[in-house]
Amino acid sequence: ETVELCEFMRGIHSRMAPSFNEKNIALNFVCHGEVYIEADPTRFEQIIINLLDNARKYSEAGTATSMQVFKKSSTVHIIVKDEGKGIPEEDQAWVFDRFYRVDKSRSKALGGSGLGLAIVKELVEAHGGKITLSSKNGKGTTFEIII
Ligand code: ATP
Ligand code: MG
Repeated sequence: ETVELCEFMRGIHSRMAPSFNEKNIALNFVCHGEVYIEADPTRFEQIIINLLDNARKYSEAGTATSMQVFKKSSTVHIIVKDEGKGIPEEDQAWVFDRFYRVDKSRSKALGGSGLGLAIVKELVEAHGGKITLSSKNGKGTTFEIII
């Protein structure tokens, strides 16, 4: 079905902001006008929630996470950017694999199975999109979905 992403993402932002604020992490949101895509709302929400869940989990108090949506000629871009601990370069190629987790001992304390990003990638591709990441260890991580 047709989904207007600004309104859709604004709704997710409202629902997720309290759990970020609880950890003293700011959750920012930017989307101008109206941006339409064909999507399964339940599954699309799962994509965004998984990315935000990671941003919150792997960020410290006092940082900010931002959600941004924009249209660029024929593509729609959705960005989730955090200022968290980052993903070391040697791990970046593997984080979309099932059960892969960076730094097993530290990740263990935070909980999780390593399935979140594998599901995200599968769902993004099911929507005809692509997801990429860029990250600097210790500085933060940016995920970009292009549809
Ligand atoms: P699950 O999502 O199944 O609860 P998880 O969060 O460990 O568990 P993924 O979401 O698939 O699994 O992420 C895989 C690994 O990538 C994580 O264990 C973490 O090491 C790293 N990672 C993912 N997102 C981020 C992020 N925003 N910042 C830093 N590291 C991240
Ligand atoms: Mg996760």
